[in-house]
Amino acid sequence: MKYYSTRGNGIGVTSAQAIKQGLAQDGGLFLPESIPALQKDEIDALCKMDYPHRAAYILGKYLTDYTEEELLEDCQNAYGERFVGGTAPLCTVGELNLLELWHGPTCAFKDMALQIMPRLLSRALKKTGETREAVILVATSGDTGKAALEGYRDVPGVRMQVFYPVNGVSRVQKLQMATQEGSNVCVTSVIGNFDDAQTGVKNIFSDDAIAETLDKGGYFFSSANSINWGRLVPQIVYYVSAYCDLILQGKIKNGESMNVCVPTGNFGNIFAAYLAKRMGLPIAKFLCASNSNHILTDFLATGTYDRNRDFYTTMSPSMDILISSNLERLLFLLAGSERTTAYMKALKETGRYTVDADVLAKIQEEFYGYYADESQTSVTIQTTYEKEGYLCDTHTAVGVYAANTYRKETGDTTPIVVASTASPYKFAADVFASLCGKRPEDEFSALALLSQLTGTAIPAPLANLDKKEIRFDPDAAIKADTMPQNVLAQLGL
Ligand SMILES: *Cc1c(COP(=O)(O)O)cnc(C)c1O
Repeated sequence: MKYYSTRGNGIGVTSAQAIKQGLAQDGGLFLPESIPALQKDEIDALCKMDYPHRAAYILGKYLTDYTEEELLEDCQNAYGERFVGGTAPLCTVGELNLLELWHGPTCAFKDMALQIMPRLLSRALKKTGETREAVILVATSGDTGKAALEGYRDVPGVRMQVFYPVNGVSRVQKLQMATQEGSNVCVTSVIGNFDDAQTGVKNIFSDDAIAETLDKGGYFFSSANSINWGRLVPQIVYYVSAYCDLILQGKIKNGESMNVCVPTGNFGNIFAAYLAKRMGLPIAKFLCASNSNHILTDFLATGTYDRNRDFYTTMSPSMDILISSNLERLLFLLAGSERTTAYMKALKETGRYTVDADVLAKIQEEFYGYYADESQTSVTIQTTYEKEGYLCDTHTAVGVYAANTYRKETGDTTPIVVASTASPYKFAADVFASLCGKRPEDEFSALALLSQLTGTAIPAPLANLDKKEIRFDPDAAIKADTMPQNVLAQLGL
């Protein structure tokens, strides 16, 4: 199966090449030439499998230049022991079904993709005859950096350096990164804010002289962005898996529909669910849940995507996004490459675009947009805990709010699967404040307070953070303009 750009340049590449390359040459995103089918009897068979086997089976339909054995080995290594308490368990919470995607090493759903993608990349380097090592640079405002570090640590043929703003991440996030293990990864704090770190990384990527130095030293730059196909395809799996679990739990029969609700930022997670539907998984509606940065809610209502608006810092920071990059893939499937290219050009030049009426009509047949502001998010955390005894994190709460609102508004009783995207302990201070009305003084103490209050256990990866050895001193922050020398020095160049 070949992969093509959403911008229509016509150059087909293998899945290994698409994963290695990240972005297509014309700036578009890769999609397979056709979407493979998933039949009803295959779903019956998947019901009998564990998660790694389900994953290897679905990945095999897309990554046709990887062997069955390779995919199974990678899925077992990615989704086995590193997920404590189940890989993507489906929990009943009142009328809803919460798909817990956060039992991996960093306690957030990014692990579902970032535990497997580096393994796929490592194989892609061999499959494409690459002799150099891949160097991945990441600028992070917190969650992605840690998940990427855990995913890429000790992966052969890959080096990684993560930059974070020294005063722009939470104490827990800083400790998570400072104590990172792995011989091929390093973490550097940068003086300034996230934009300074991000701009620094972008400048390095586009510097031809640095690229040449790397090449001579046997390295090249690759990316771990959420637009990489290698991050998207593993996300299709857990929607199929959730459907199987609904069948196994006796909530639906094979062939009946479910709805899916996703707390959304970059549109990657919800788009993976859409691909599952296009394969044949019976999903009726997609509920797209946003926080106060509700650019997607507005888009789904009006057909106009407009990023000329205020940006809010919320308690669900991983959804504080004004450019939902993966939306481009949906537009391509519904509008074709020519119109998609025009929309993206308008977005770049004016910060906005409006899709044609036929495209909007198609989107609105299946997608419903909702958003929860800060107080609605807090109240949802509180009422979900009081009524159902279930503790949700700030991002998941946005999804629960959307799912409840949809049920009330429409009376639709189709079972809803809500993506639960982070452990409540990852955002303990805001979760605690939502339950008790007062914020703990120090963010780290919030973990213990939340545990005492609810009688639930702090997940192991977060529990002993303050006792782990510091490997990368957060106080040794560098100036953003010295990032290039720092990268070269780390590589011994
Ligand atoms: C990244 C993230 C999201 C948003 O997912 P997208 O694929 O960007 O839409 C939601 N919740 C959490 C906890 C995340 O880390």
